[in-house]
Amino acid sequence: MTLTERWNTVMMDNYGTPKVALDHGDGVRVWSTAGDEFLDFVGGIAVSSLGHAHPAIVAAVTDQVGRLAHTSNLAMHEPGVRLAERLVDLLGLPARVFFANSGAEANECALKLARKHRPGGGIVSCNASFHGRTFGALSVTGNAAKREPFAPLPGPVTFVDYGDTAALRAAVTRQTAAVIVEPTLGEGGIVAPPPGFLTDVRAICDDAGALLIVDEVQSGIGRTGNWFASQAEGVRPDVVTLAKGLGGGLPIGACLAVGAAGELFAPGDHGSTFGGNPVSCAAALAVLTTIADEHLLDHVKQVGEHLARRIEAIGAPLVREVRGSGLWRGVVLTGAHAADVELSAFNRGLLVNAVRPDVLRLAPPLITTTDDVDTAVVRLADALQEVAARDA
Ligand code: PLP
Repeated sequence: MTLTERWNTVMMDNYGTPKVALDHGDGVRVWSTAGDEFLDFVGGIAVSSLGHAHPAIVAAVTDQVGRLAHTSNLAMHEPGVRLAERLVDLLGLPARVFFANSGAEANECALKLARKHRPGGGIVSCNASFHGRTFGALSVTGNAAKREPFAPLPGPVTFVDYGDTAALRAAVTRQTAAVIVEPTLGEGGIVAPPPGFLTDVRAICDDAGALLIVDEVQSGIGRTGNWFASQAEGVRPDVVTLAKGLGGGLPIGACLAVGAAGELFAPGDHGSTFGGNPVSCAAALAVLTTIADEHLLDHVKQVGEHLARRIEAIGAPLVREVRGSGLWRGVVLTGAHAADVELSAFNRGLLVNAVRPDVLRLAPPLITTTDDVDTAVVRLADALQEVAARDA
């Protein structure tokens, strides 16, 4: 049996059947089991921040797994404490950290903090947002098709349109425990809010005494050319959640709670067997050190601008707009062509992601060079042309 046949026999059908089996990677390139080479402009969905098989991650993980792979939460360890210190330092605010294994789990922690902050209080979230698949994270995810089959979910949760300050002000009351918001919608299609929205959210939370939870699972750790996207907006969150790019491919999530929010949990309130595992923490430390030492935040801004300008310069009739920041871009198409373009790009050795029917998401590794971009854009241009010609 082929791997695809075995997959279809044994795996649950929640993902459908992936069109490729990957075998190994190096930098911004990955190879399939069939030997085909791809430029990886998806980065494992904004995860492989240093690309594939980065020597700093390989060394850190190899050393740590050979020393101590697991402690559980019955013991502390140096990589975990050091990583928490580094994250608090980067946030630049007095915060405390809880480590989880994923973005959804980081958000579960944030939602439980909100319950402790205002017992029985509700959450306000945004339409088209995405916060994860676990029951709590799903309850605040603004995508009814993903949420409704699993009702009833925890609540009360109120949804307002992303960027609609007036609607948010009307929805947030003294019964609201927290507002949860992405600095830019990721799964929603790389949609930035109107300027000043996050500042307005902060003021609305302050007026109601609600926590502001900023979900930086996709936007954080250099993706936009900032450690935290909300930092660039000058907004002080009460809670920040991280995952994806933090571990550079190793599973880790983090919930950072600022000031009084960091004091809400007492022993026994929350936990995780694997969260903050020393191997994942060692990988995350390697990611943070490499981003800092190699000045990757500036690099991401420069290469990200180059990427956007080069795509615009194709002048493809199928492209309406390129949006986003850093190495996190949405290529907005004139119609529901994203899946076709994704497939055509794949056939030309370029991985991109149809995040919405009419939006392609590009989230390549933070180490991507302008040469990589130029190669990718040639392949993308050909894919756009093929799909346009077919639909003409
Ligand atoms: N929050 C945001 C903003 C995300 O983009 C995602 C995943 O795409 C999640 C949370 C969930 O993360 P995970 O899939 O690691 O649970």
